[in-house]
Amino acid sequence: MNLRKVHRLATESFRRNEAPPSREVACGVVRYFVAQKGLPALKAGGHPFSFNLMSQTAPNVSRMEKIVSLCKRRGLIFQSSEIYGGLNGFWDYGPLGAELKRNVKELWWKSMTRLRDDIVGLEATIIMHPKIWKASGHVDTFSDPMSTCRSCKKLVRSDQVWEMIGATPWNTALEGLVSEGNVDVEALLKWGAGKGGKALPNLAFVQKPDEVAPVVRAAGAAGKLDSAKAALEALATPVGASAPVTPCPHCGGELTEPRPFNLMFKTYVGPAATEEDVAYLRPETAQAIFVQFKNVLETSRVKVPFGICQIGKAFRNEVTPRNFTFRSREFEQMELEFFIKPDEVVEKSVGSVAKLEEASLEEPAANWGWEVWHKYWVETRMRWYEGIGLKRSSLEEYWQKKDELAHYARATVDILYRFPFGTQELEGIAARGDFDLTQHQQHSGKSQEYFDQEANTKYVPHVIEPSAGVDRLILALICEAFEEEQVTDEKGQTETRTVLRFHPRVAPIKVGIFPLLKNKPELVKKALEVRDLLRPHMNVYYDDSGAIGRRYRRQDEAGTPFCVTIDFDTVGENGPEKADTVTLRHRDSMQQERVTIDGLLARLMGAIL
Ligand code: ATP
Repeated sequence: MNLRKVHRLATESFRRNEAPPSREVACGVVRYFVAQKGLPALKAGGHPFSFNLMSQTAPNVSRMEKIVSLCKRRGLIFQSSEIYGGLNGFWDYGPLGAELKRNVKELWWKSMTRLRDDIVGLEATIIMHPKIWKASGHVDTFSDPMSTCRSCKKLVRSDQVWEMIGATPWNTALEGLVSEGNVDVEALLKWGAGKGGKALPNLAFVQKPDEVAPVVRAAGAAGKLDSAKAALEALATPVGASAPVTPCPHCGGELTEPRPFNLMFKTYVGPAATEEDVAYLRPETAQAIFVQFKNVLETSRVKVPFGICQIGKAFRNEVTPRNFTFRSREFEQMELEFFIKPDEVVEKSVGSVAKLEEASLEEPAANWGWEVWHKYWVETRMRWYEGIGLKRSSLEEYWQKKDELAHYARATVDILYRFPFGTQELEGIAARGDFDLTQHQQHSGKSQEYFDQEANTKYVPHVIEPSAGVDRLILALICEAFEEEQVTDEKGQTETRTVLRFHPRVAPIKVGIFPLLKNKPELVKKALEVRDLLRPHMNVYYDDSGAIGRRYRRQDEAGTPFCVTIDFDTVGENGPEKADTVTLRHRDSMQQERVTIDGLLARLMGAIL
């Protein structure tokens, strides 16, 4: 495909508010634009891709802002403690959000437990014995690298600085001036004296332009500033500094060297509150599953391979919570620990271990080793996401490279979603060997071995762990569902329709029920009958206020897939053949059809199950 065509297609899709293009496409498109129209046109903001090329994908800021505002307006998500100014990293779910979240958790729980024979559930406490976190490694190593800005004193996660810079509004302007190897120092000086200086008052270049500008000019001429990142570092580094400075995303000041910051929230159990009483709010739900492994094994009729799953709150004192609910300090996880036989036991039992390329992933088999089980769970989880409305094209599988893996992991796949602010992790699926159970065996002194009757041997089971975040998934579902489209009404007027195209399975409200007129008792009576027929089975919303078109629009914004209108046909005013029929209106197509009240429940249940 030639650049012209890529440019046209990518720009059109961006304008339709679809997910942002990949970095490669974005770079190509901007290069094409510059070749055609020149750099000044790009600097002047003449291209819709006024985004950052340093991050993996271009953030679509305006789309995200619209989504955040809709979430508040429609009661999906509110800032926690808002009337006191909010608490950073904490979010509440409003009436619609609470329903959406409940639906998602129920679907996950059902797919894991009720629809399978080999997984059971658990619900453990948030605060557990502190030794658990020593054994798991969290006390010693559950930390993120943190830097402090020497000027504004703000804390940032050192490994996310460039991503944060990419999302700032000033970066877009700066990028036009320092794009790959082409540093326009004169324009930079102007920028530093104006908007740049306001946004980044502590940037070395802004503080001491006379000293830093010649260094930047020389480095540019020597071809050393071959990326926007290199150029920005040069602008941030005071003359005479021993090493390049990473700029603070908030003020351009110098960041300190990274130092580890433990993410666990501490608390005290009991009234004494001494160091002996320290406990932690769990940073993940998984450890409870490991420490209850033996109890579950002994009390349920499960045999390896089998899984234990749990949904629950987790807490991490994130250094920089951001991207709306994506990185929160309190969030929910849906985790499964699926215990399997070590490969040598499989081999001993059935002769050989299935090869990944030969195994059919449809039905688990006795000869599956960890590799096939791991792939099976990646596929199973991808299919589940599709089943609740995330398109495969919005998801990516990222297979961690050997040097990225945790020391105990044999393989880890991150399932990523293309959020408007970039492609980011929704779920991690790790093959963790026997690390966790072995750690707890050593630290507790209690055997975690399993006696396998078939193989007539004892072993510590290995584990595959699909670990998903509920809140990230809710955000992904909202981002996927959000659309603004131009529609023409009966009077020929065009307006923007905001619609959340939730899959009916997750939609917070399944059906809106409207009497055509609220002052006609016969219509109201019938509408209430329809409401009472449906509401034991699904979440319905009864609405009798305003014009019917406005009622439809309100439900479109709430993501309600169906609306039912009770009119004069329903009550038999236009002949007996139309009596007891209603209008069923479909959110996505806006098509309406006539259906009988008798058939309504079955029809809707078919769509939402
Ligand atoms: P990240 O690298 O994004 O911090 P992680 O790899 O540390 O995530 P895990 O420890 O594997 O995450 O946790 C499993 C899942 O829990 C993640 O895939 C994510 O969906 C969710 N999760 C983790 N941290 C947060 C958070 N701070 N806010 C919301 N969800 C989170």
